[in-house]
Amino acid sequence: MDGNGLMNMVSLMPTIPRRRQAIVLHALKAIGVRSRRFTFTGNACYTNAVAMKQTGNNTDADWQRLLSPERYAILREGATEAPFSGEYAQFDEQGTYRCGACGAALFLSDTKYDAGCGWPSFTSPAGEDTVTYHTDTSAGMQRTEVRCAACNSHLGHVFNDGPGSAGKRYCINSLALNFTPTEL
Ligand SMILES: [Zn+2]
Repeated sequence: MDGNGLMNMVSLMPTIPRRRQAIVLHALKAIGVRSRRFTFTGNACYTNAVAMKQTGNNTDADWQRLLSPERYAILREGATEAPFSGEYAQFDEQGTYRCGACGAALFLSDTKYDAGCGWPSFTSPAGEDTVTYHTDTSAGMQRTEVRCAACNSHLGHVFNDGPGSAGKRYCINSLALNFTPTEL
């Protein structure tokens, strides 16, 4: 989408769900457009976001202090980064992807593949108990949300169109992850 398209979307902002607003704002930032009309207050009202804030060792105020605004919007409020915007979308090094909030090891590079969707995609998490699954009916869709089992932060979603016998595609925000290379 070009700058004009994004500005058109901004004019529709009040009608766009909050998660979508985050995507548009992220894209606007990426192309250097600033808008004073729409600012995040950090007071998310989504059920998922509220549920997230009720668990984990850190309070919401802690997370706001510890995370950048972009990471906070994704990890603690369930936003989604713009496709192809994240540093791990097209990234092929050997190592471990850790939770961007708490540092737990979540995904291994061996399971990463290029799904062509613009987000880092994995066939499975690093372990069975590494992530938790939650029904997400926001944005007019029924999806399965994936969160970090250790700190309950939002990571992305899992879909049933992946390769291999399990057929899973874990579609994860780059900003929800930190990559640690394997030491050679
Ligand atoms: Zn975590």
